Amino acid sequence: MNKNGAKGTHQPQDRALRALDMARIDWQAAYPRSSLFDDIYFARQSGLEESRHVFIDANQLGPSWSALPDNSTFTIIETGFGTGLNFLATTRLWGERGPMGGRLQYLAIEKYPLSTADLIRALEPWHQFSDIAKQLIDNYPPPLPGFHRLVFERLTPKRPVTLTLIFADAGEALAQLQRTNHPAFTQQRFFTTDAWFLDGFAPAKNPDLWTPEIFQAVARLSHPGTTLSTFTASGRVRRGLLAVGFEMRKVPGFGSKREMLVGSYGPANISPGKTRANPENIEPYRGKSRPDLPWHIDPTSKIKARATRSRGQEKRITIIGAGIAGCATARALADRGLPVTIHDRHGQPGAEASGNGQGIIYPRLSTEASSLSRVNLAGLMFASRYYQSFWKNNAGNPGRPSGILLLPEKPADAAVFKRIGENFNGCETFVRVLEGSALRDISGVRLGAKIGLYFPALGWISPPEVCRQLLKHPNITLERTAITALERDADRSLWRLESAHGHYPATTVILAASNNCLDFDPARHLPLKPIRGQISIAPARDQSRALKTVICGAAYLAPADEQSAHTFGASYNLGSLSTEVRAEEHQGNIDALLDTDPLLHRLLGEVQTRELRGRAALRCTSPDYLPLVGPVPVFEDFVEIYADLKRDARADIPLPGSYWPGLYVHCGLGSRGFTYAPLGAEILASYILGEAPVLANDLLKALHPARFIIRDLKRKRL
Ligand code: SAM
Repeated sequence: MNKNGAKGTHQPQDRALRALDMARIDWQAAYPRSSLFDDIYFARQSGLEESRHVFIDANQLGPSWSALPDNSTFTIIETGFGTGLNFLATTRLWGERGPMGGRLQYLAIEKYPLSTADLIRALEPWHQFSDIAKQLIDNYPPPLPGFHRLVFERLTPKRPVTLTLIFADAGEALAQLQRTNHPAFTQQRFFTTDAWFLDGFAPAKNPDLWTPEIFQAVARLSHPGTTLSTFTASGRVRRGLLAVGFEMRKVPGFGSKREMLVGSYGPANISPGKTRANPENIEPYRGKSRPDLPWHIDPTSKIKARATRSRGQEKRITIIGAGIAGCATARALADRGLPVTIHDRHGQPGAEASGNGQGIIYPRLSTEASSLSRVNLAGLMFASRYYQSFWKNNAGNPGRPSGILLLPEKPADAAVFKRIGENFNGCETFVRVLEGSALRDISGVRLGAKIGLYFPALGWISPPEVCRQLLKHPNITLERTAITALERDADRSLWRLESAHGHYPATTVILAASNNCLDFDPARHLPLKPIRGQISIAPARDQSRALKTVICGAAYLAPADEQSAHTFGASYNLGSLSTEVRAEEHQGNIDALLDTDPLLHRLLGEVQTRELRGRAALRCTSPDYLPLVGPVPVFEDFVEIYADLKRDARADIPLPGSYWPGLYVHCGLGSRGFTYAPLGAEILASYILGEAPVLANDLLKALHPARFIIRDLKRKRL
C-alpha cells in the first residue's frame, strides 16, 4: 500500500469480482479535486486550455491528423481518464481534423472511476462539448473492473470513435494490453498506440503511476514515432522514459507550471509481430509472473505498427451463417467500411437458433473473478449498450428494454444475491437487489419470491428482427447459399467456398455457422456440441399482460410481445438432433416455470401443453461454456509445435501458434447468443483489422479457438 491507501501496481489478481473503489471528490464549486490523492483533476478556470496545451498540442494531434489518409485509424492511450475532459476535447478535434472515415481509438485507464453523478457534475461546465458529454454519460459503465468498449459510430460526422475504458490499476491494465509477456517477443509489437496522454496525478502524490515498470510497459506499447506528453517536468519521469527509449524534451508548461515533458519513441530495432521469435534473442524475463506460452500469437495477423496505416479497404469479408453471431460480425465490419458478403442456406437472417420471437439477454453473475464470470459480465454490459439503439428507435418491433429480474433457484441463492448486491455496490444502473414489495413494483406482478436481482438495462430482443436490421447496411450483401466445403487454394492464397451452384473465392472468411462450422475441414477439430432447446409460446391473459420485466430462474418468462404472446423455456436436451416440437418438452418448460416461481404459471392461466405453440433449435456449446472467437488454428501444426506439453504441461515453448491465413470463427455461444454475439463481433473486427484489444489479454485467450488444443495436449489427450 502507498500512503494514499492505494494498492501498488503489480498485485496478484483479486479472486473476488467486485466494484472498484470510486473516486472521492472534494468539490470546490464546479471544480473536482481528489481527496484520495490531494490533487486536482485539471486547472481551475482553464482546464480546457490546459488539456489542449498539455496533451492535444504537445502531441501535435491537429497537424498530424490533417496529414492522415482517409480511413486511417489513430490510437491514443491515456493513463487517468478522470472526468473525461481530455477525451471530450480530443474527440471534438477528431471530428474537425481527423481523416474522412477514420476511426479514433481512445483507450483510457482509470483505477478510481468517478460516479455517474460526479461525472455529470464535472462535465457540466463544458457546454461546447455537451453533445459528446451526453453520449459519454449515457454509455458510462458501472465501476466494475475490466475493459469497457464504448462504440460511437456517429459521435462525430463520418469519423467514428471507440472509447475503451479500462477500469483497473495502470500497471495491470498496461500488462493486459500486451499480447504476451514472453521474453522471446520483447522486441516485437502486436498492438501499439500512436500517442500517450500521461495524466495521472503528480508523481510526488501518486508515485505508483510513474515507476520503471510502467515506463517499460509504455515503451512496449509504442512504435517508432509514437509521441507522448505529460504535465509534469519531473526529472525522474524524464530519466525513466529516456531509459526505455523515448527521446525526451522539456517544453513550456501550462499556466503557472514553467515546464512539462514531451517525448517520441526512438528505437528502430523493434519489429512488428510478423517475424518469428528468434530464440537466440531471448532476454531473461523480468516480470513477476510466469511468462505465458505464446500459442495465441498469430504470426500472420495484421499488426498496426504505424500511425498512418490505413485500414484494409482491399479486404472483402465472407461470412458463413446469418444468425446473431454472423449478423453482428457483418455489421461490425461493414461499419468499419469493409464490404461483407454473408451466406446463409435459408436466405434470411436468424432462421435457426436465432429465430425465436423473443430472445433474452440472460444474466448470470458471480462474485468469483473467473474467466467465465468476467466474460459474461463484459458480454452483458456490452450487450446492454448495443441493443439500446434498436430499442430506442423501435422500428419493426425489435424487442423491449424491459429489465430482467433474476429469481433464486434454491434457498442458498438468497445469500448469494445479497453478496452480489454488496460486491456490486455502486453499480445500480446495471444490477441491484430487490426485496419484498419492490419485486412486485418492478415486475408488475405478484411473485412468491422474496428476493431477486434486477438488471434494469437488459431486456429481450426479437432476434430475427435484430438480425435483419444489422444486415441493413450498404456494405453488406446477403446471399442464399448453402456452403458445403471450404478449401485453401494454394496457388492464389485464397479460400474457395463450394456450393451446389458453384464456388466463390474469398480472402477472409468467418465461420459463424454454429454446429455446422464442423462441416469445414480446417475447423473440424473444434470441440462443438449441439444441445437442443425448445421454447414454449403461450397466449397472454389479462393478468399476464401486467408483467413488465423478463423473469429468469429455472426457466425464463418474457412479457407479452406485439402478438400478445409470452415466450418461456427453454428445454436443454443433450441427446437429440431433432428440431421437431415435442409435448413433453412443453411440459418440462411448464414445470421449470413452476420451479421459477409458482405464481408465474398461474399468471398464464395454468396453461396446458396443448395450448402452447413452440419452436426447437440446436444451440452450439463448447466444453468450457465460453464462445470461440478468433483465428482458426492449424490443428496438425499445433500438435507438432507444442508436443512437449504432453511431457510437461508447464514446458516453455517460445514459439507462436500456427493459424490459417484469413480464417476466423465465431461460434459456441450456447444459450447466451444475444449476450455474447455483439462483444464477439467487436473482438473479431479488432483481430481482422489489427485494432486495439477489446478485452484484457487473458480473456481474449479464454475465448480463443486454439485453447482446446493446448488444454488437450497438457492433459495428454492428443
Ligand atoms: N485526464 C483526466 C481528465 O480529463 O479529467 C484527469 C486525470 S486526473 C489528473 C488523474 C487520474 O488518474 C485520476 O482519475 C486518478 O484516479 C487516476 N489514477 C491515479 N492512479 C492511478 C493508477 N495507479 N492507475 C490508474 N489510474 C490512476
